[in-house]
Amino acid sequence: MSTLVLGGGPAGTAAAIALARAGASPVLVERAAVTAEKVCGEFLGADAAALLAGLGLDLAALGAVSVRQARFGAGRRSSAVMLPFQAWSLPRATLDAALLDRAAEAGVRLRRGVAAVAADSDGDGWRLRLADGAVLQAETLVLATGKHELRGQARLVSGGAIGLKLALEGVDIGDAIALLACAGGYAGLQPRAGGGANLCMAMQPGTPGLAAAAREPAALLAHVMAGSVLARDLLAGARPAWPRVMTVAGVPYGFVHRDAGPSGLFRVGDQASVVPSLCGDGIAMALASGARAAAVIAAGGGAATHHHAWARAVAPGMRLAGLAGGLMERAPGVLVAATGAAPGLARWAARRTRMGLD
Ligand SMILES: Cc1cc2nc3c(=O)[nH]c(=O)nc-3n(C[C@H](O)[C@H](O)[C@H](O)COP(=O)(O)OP(=O)(O)OC[C@H]3O[C@@H](n4cnc5c(N)ncnc54)[C@H](O)[C@@H]3O)c2cc1C
Repeated sequence: MSTLVLGGGPAGTAAAIALARAGASPVLVERAAVTAEKVCGEFLGADAAALLAGLGLDLAALGAVSVRQARFGAGRRSSAVMLPFQAWSLPRATLDAALLDRAAEAGVRLRRGVAAVAADSDGDGWRLRLADGAVLQAETLVLATGKHELRGQARLVSGGAIGLKLALEGVDIGDAIALLACAGGYAGLQPRAGGGANLCMAMQPGTPGLAAAAREPAALLAHVMAGSVLARDLLAGARPAWPRVMTVAGVPYGFVHRDAGPSGLFRVGDQASVVPSLCGDGIAMALASGARAAAVIAAGGGAATHHHAWARAVAPGMRLAGLAGGLMERAPGVLVAATGAAPGLARWAARRTRMGLD
């Protein structure tokens, strides 16, 4: 069966590689000519690492930094727990480039540097219109555009959080990731390959100070530091490594695509489900959903089979992740106190929200 994959992030590349390994010859369209930063905390848990190893990626060889513990800060409270698994931090530009390289090696035909502008179906197959005027056709379309909607095939979502990201120098957080509560949400701080740290956060729209934080690196740092003593300690010597804060709007945490959708259109990655960023499991879910969609396609199954199976598989983890994310936003002191008093519970929750699934 001929297949087009739209989007060259973790979900699209995982789907394309699995299809190529199954003997198909998929075409993957990615609008970026060169991989770049994305608004992402860049935390890779054990499930993501295992799925990436299965695709032939060696995280240590790619320069990933080891992450062994999690620290939590809210107001005057702080706590720390050892992670129940080895985790990693790797820049998205490096990760996505390595995945696209693996896809090319597996026999995927890549069309990079051109965006798709629309897709339509005549019932027998899909026509994908590209910005350069080309039209590609295939029986099946894998939609892996992440948080970006394709005209005519947008997800049924509204509102959503604002994601912000800033690379920092002058911060040494060792082998820990820190979750730092602040007004309107929470920030994740973790070591960056090559030195410094990555500050990434999700905030509710309308939060006082959000507009300034999205515009000004100094305002973002001040906003996070106002939220906890731990943030003030960790960020005391921080200097923005970028002139601007990267932002993305409308991140629909908790979204799961449950409809069958049009025939032959397989949603994967953030197009299929969006887990709260607190869990750092979005990349694993993207990889797993891509691989699962490819397995259904290779077996001759339909998109409805894939969407229903995926929604069922992620439901328990999504519920727990939603609870933890909501607690971190609305009562962070309780979460920090609980992780301090019962680190075993925190490790259990960290395991239970892992959603790489296989
Ligand atoms: C604030 C924040 C922090 C996060 N932190 C983490 C974390 O620490 N760990 C973690 O695992 N997950 C994290 N996530 C989630 C993670 O980033 C996503 O779940 C993951 O990137 C989804 O992968 P994807 O392949 O679906 O989409 P993406 O990685 O977004 O890839 C989609 C690709 O499609 C391409 N594309 C889009 N539209 C078109 C078009 N029209 N034509 C051609 N190409 C197109 C894009 O250029 C892009 O390369 C975070 C998310 C947010 C918002």
